[in-house]
Amino acid sequence: MALRETHIARMRTESFDTLVIGGGINGAVAAASLAGRGATVALIDRGDFAHFTSQASSNLVWGGFKYLENYELPLVWKLCRSRNRLMKAYPDNIKEIGFYATLDKSSPYPPWFAALGAAAYWIIGQFGTQRPRLLKPRTIEREEPAVNTTEVSGGIEYSDGILIDNDARFVFSFVREAIESGAAAANYVELVSAGWPSSTTPAGSSM
Ligand SMILES: Cc1cc2nc3c(=O)[nH]c(=O)nc-3n(C[C@H](O)[C@H](O)[C@H](O)COP(=O)(O)OP(=O)(O)OC[C@H]3O[C@@H](n4cnc5c(N)ncnc54)[C@H](O)[C@@H]3O)c2cc1C
Repeated sequence: MALRETHIARMRTESFDTLVIGGGINGAVAAASLAGRGATVALIDRGDFAHFTSQASSNLVWGGFKYLENYELPLVWKLCRSRNRLMKAYPDNIKEIGFYATLDKSSPYPPWFAALGAAAYWIIGQFGTQRPRLLKPRTIEREEPAVNTTEVSGGIEYSDGILIDNDARFVFSFVREAIESGAAAANYVELVSAGWPSSTTPAGSSM
């Protein structure tokens, strides 16, 4: 019997501590984490695993620079801390990536202000990546001759983390980890309704 059918049969006959609905990155990680800690877990997705939002990510871990624009400093701090941990835990999957951005008169910020933001991102990120740089047009011309610097007033270079693997494969690695820890996982299984078993119906709820 194929693995999927075996797991569907288990879902029909066994009872589980947790049913995880959706095998995107959050469901897959939750299933792997719970199963790894000894919970009995069933994981379902109505399509392929990682077929929905988790296949459309730009793969940045976590692209927190953009949140500085709204001064969401606690969020940026959390994202950077998480990025640094993940870069250490998964060195083969998550690497540092550099961004080289040019700015001109139509840009929302002058280069010095963007560089200040990049420096703040680096500091909040506890220096977990390469030091950012403020770039003069002459430096950009020298380092990246393909860039047309006629209108350019300067630029910045800063770094973040990126998931270098295929995102669906990354998600599936957690699905596989969940299965290896004893979870039952099946795709093309949709949750269409849910209810409380009569013995556990909470007081005051209606069904
Ligand atoms: C263009 C774009 C770029 C992004 N870039 C980044 C980035 O660079 N860095 C970053 O950190 N984040 C990024 N994100 C956000 C990130 O991709 C999402 O936060 C993440 O993928 C959400 O994962 P998820 O598991 O919560 O949801 P999903 O991947 O959407 O998974 C939910 C799953 O649940 C299943 N499901 C739903 N209902 C049911 C049901 N009733 N029964 C069974 N299955 C069901 C769906 O089929 C789906 O597979 C980006 C998002 C987009 C759209």
